[in-house]
Amino acid sequence: MTHFDMLLVEGRVVDPLHKLDEHFDIGIVDGKVKAVKSGLDRRTADKIIDLHGKTAISGVIDSHMHAEKAGYRMMAKVGVVTGVDFSERMDILCENVKARGSGMNVATLANVRSYDTAPGTEVDRKEIERIVKRAVEDGALGVKMTGGHNPFTPDTTREIIEVANQQRAYVAFHVGTTATGSNLNGLKEAVELAGKNSLHVAHVNSYLRGLIKDPVEESLEGLAALRGKRNIVSESYLAIINGTGGKCVNGIPDSGVTRNCLRFRKYPETQDGLEKAILDGFCMVQIEAGGECILVSGREGVQCWKDAKTDIGISFPVNVPQSTFLCATRKDETGKFIVDAISTDGGGIPRNVSVASGLALVRYGALTFEEFVRKVSLNPARMYGMTSKGHLGEGADADITVLDLERGEAVMGIAKGQVIMIDGVVIGHSGTIITTKAGAKSIENAGLKSDVVDLEDSWFFHK
Ligand SMILES: [Zn+2]
Repeated sequence: MTHFDMLLVEGRVVDPLHKLDEHFDIGIVDGKVKAVKSGLDRRTADKIIDLHGKTAISGVIDSHMHAEKAGYRMMAKVGVVTGVDFSERMDILCENVKARGSGMNVATLANVRSYDTAPGTEVDRKEIERIVKRAVEDGALGVKMTGGHNPFTPDTTREIIEVANQQRAYVAFHVGTTATGSNLNGLKEAVELAGKNSLHVAHVNSYLRGLIKDPVEESLEGLAALRGKRNIVSESYLAIINGTGGKCVNGIPDSGVTRNCLRFRKYPETQDGLEKAILDGFCMVQIEAGGECILVSGREGVQCWKDAKTDIGISFPVNVPQSTFLCATRKDETGKFIVDAISTDGGGIPRNVSVASGLALVRYGALTFEEFVRKVSLNPARMYGMTSKGHLGEGADADITVLDLERGEAVMGIAKGQVIMIDGVVIGHSGTIITTKAGAKSIENAGLKSDVVDLEDSWFFHK
């Protein structure tokens, strides 16, 4: 008789990889899925959780988030089990995971800028090689460029993509160079700069907000640029608010994205314009309260922004629902999604809505439930070569998100066989770092558990 550490009984189990959609029990041993079938022997289980009326899927993976400090709890609360941070250096990430990891699995793509010793728009090739190598040895899966906020020249951007590919490291791109911007032109340019190299295009929806032409036209054009590109993986998010920086230098907002947002509603692209936008409620300031991040505007928002000497996260409601809808649902002629995954670009920004809004798309009929599971779990797992995640086959990590489809939300999160969230209350601690072989030593030195993935198994290199 198999002994189970935990048995999840009588839930509906949906696993697109194994084409399962039935009422089954799930038996867990040593943090792994041992058996998925009906009538598993309850007498051999240490713990039994009744999932009657609930739906179990492989754990939700946020393929693009920014956890910072408050993010882990905010993600775990809504059923996310694994997240890929898009900027944090591994040393900072490890400290945060230890203190507030909420039991999640976490990987990171380090921002090239955080290793850049001479920040500018150009970086020489030797320096790029050093940066990518260092990021991977520190435990990151690769690097990320924030072209929309602090762009490089097209040549430097192309070289960063090339070097990462040569070193077989992951590279993600918030599009935009000194020649374009965080918009449709930047998106098209990114596809060109990648050439035949592999590239992750981040939050596709955010370039299709209608800055150049009608947002639906932009979306169709942007998605057409990505169609059939086997060397490009991508995600998009569903939230209406974005996330950017409020920092001003010499009276001007530092981030190109922030200036875009102000222009969007015809505010002056200055510090005074930004203050007015916060006062009016068009711009919301991200503050930490109760261990989470919340948004404030009006006088309170202006005060918080000033208290931080303008250097604080801010959000604007600038994403166009039609664009986020098209990015989430559009397929090519073979029936494959053009954008691989639904992400949040959230974490520490309160817009972790991939489950809530993803399930709304299911209720609306825009996605089947099976497609929803692919977009929030199976596809992100494949993008990053997380072969033991994204499905519930025997031997898979016991990462499970339990959904209440009537309420349209996650009611339980399980990471590697440990319950980390029940009914919105987060009970998980610390976390596991997902890294490559080259980074495992650094994670061990940091005193955290690690799981090693091989990017050669990923869609990033072999879609
Ligand atoms: Zn991001």
